[in-house]
Amino acid sequence: MSSLFPALTGEARTLERPALRFGDRSLTYGELAAVTDTLAARIRDAGRVAVWATPTLETAVGVVAALRAGVPAVPLNPKSGQSELGHILKDSAPALILTAPEAELPSAPADVERLDIDVPDRSTAHPGGRRPLADEPAPEAPALIVYTSGTTGPPKGAVIPRRAVATTLDALADAWRWTADDVLVHALPLFHVHGLILGVLGPLRRGGAVRHLGRFDTTAVARELSAGATMLFGVPTMYHRIAETLPADPDLAKALGRARLLVSGSAALPVHDHERIAAATGRRVIERYGMTETLMNTSVRADGEPRAGTVGVPLPGVELRLVEDDGTPLTAYDGESVGEIQVRGPNLFTEYLNRPDATAAAFTADGWFRTGDMAVRDPDGYVRIVGRKATDLIKSGGYKIGAGEIENALLEHPGVREAAVTGAPDPDLGERVVAWIVPQDPESPPPAEELASHVAALLSPHKRPRTVHYLSALPRNDMGKIMKRALKTDEAG
Ligand code: ATP
Ligand code: MG
Repeated sequence: MSSLFPALTGEARTLERPALRFGDRSLTYGELAAVTDTLAARIRDAGRVAVWATPTLETAVGVVAALRAGVPAVPLNPKSGQSELGHILKDSAPALILTAPEAELPSAPADVERLDIDVPDRSTAHPGGRRPLADEPAPEAPALIVYTSGTTGPPKGAVIPRRAVATTLDALADAWRWTADDVLVHALPLFHVHGLILGVLGPLRRGGAVRHLGRFDTTAVARELSAGATMLFGVPTMYHRIAETLPADPDLAKALGRARLLVSGSAALPVHDHERIAAATGRRVIERYGMTETLMNTSVRADGEPRAGTVGVPLPGVELRLVEDDGTPLTAYDGESVGEIQVRGPNLFTEYLNRPDATAAAFTADGWFRTGDMAVRDPDGYVRIVGRKATDLIKSGGYKIGAGEIENALLEHPGVREAAVTGAPDPDLGERVVAWIVPQDPESPPPAEELASHVAALLSPHKRPRTVHYLSALPRNDMGKIMKRALKTDEAG
């Protein structure tokens, strides 16, 4: 396999191009090559390093240096609680934690040595590059150990080989026509696949640029897109904020209309938000679907037809099938038959760290990875995710009902700001549909009967919620994923 980042060892002209910008600090490829050369030399004998993944230049530098040194990197969520952080450090046993100098670490990781990353000012940095640091590690060598989001259970450390990083980024380049001329607007955290592998390593592999905003803000997004940025990667909560802001912000509409590519992932983008953004900007958000364990599986292609509620088609090199409960693959592309998504291909992880049991359980005998996500396929091959097998599939009165469809219907109601749907045990139905609603106006939430008849009219009567709970906010993690585990626990308690 060739180098992960050809632009770091490229020609002088390439080395002068902008690579990373975080706030008012930036590095060209030449400067990034120099600073990561130095850091890589310092850490090359560490067996494994953790990176305290604040949204800073230092995090990007730390991860790239580790990749250049061939040392597996474990990105840490700086907002993790003591027990999650303790678990991840014990599990991954890094020799060092790389940090930005100003980072404040809690006491938990005190027994792991800290190494502050020194990113010199532009004036004192030596231009580097042209010097491949070490022999390029083997394609199967671990590049990163990324912990899953912990939506369905405690986070598991997915060991991601270099081969998976390279193939997933190249497959996205093909699907999205992603080139060195693209400039990405980025506002995601850097400790998951989306923000780190797609959002930082992706542009660097292409030789393009990243502008990280530190935190998401619609004004800053509009500013960057107006100033020539070409792509935006976001999670659905960001696109929801955009959809809410658009009616009062013509500059944002104009800026989004100019973007080459608006991409959403990490969770389902509600149809209502997709349609509102399309109506206001003339642009359709492209959805892609992936996981920590598989990196990217499907996407709507840049030259394809974006369609609300679908995650597009399998990426080049990815084999994808839908499988019934008894393991029989579905052959019909009828937009109706629901099966579990299983995938196979060079984009897959190698194993869960220290979890041979979980690793074995995740694969079929013939090497397909069980994603735990349920979907249907349209006649033209587009995949529509219905929800997760564990939390989003409600077996009620002999029907299998997907939570996502009901959530989309509830969000069409003018009195609903946010909606989540779960199943709860029911003596008559097996399970009943339960809706969790954040009303637009907490003073006058839409009555349960009204929401039930709204869903019955839009979808069908058996999909109507039998119980409605009203909340001031939905429990979400740092990627905006709805923590259905917490909702289900509430229902049980
Ligand atoms: P854990 O595995 O620890 O329970 P998690 O599955 O949320 O947490 P990730 O690997 O970060 O951890 O997320 C992958 C999951 O995110 C997928 O399995 C899928 O359920 C969901 N997902 C990602 N992209 C999309 C999308 N475009 N539409 C719907 N769901 C998506
Ligand atoms: Mg998962």
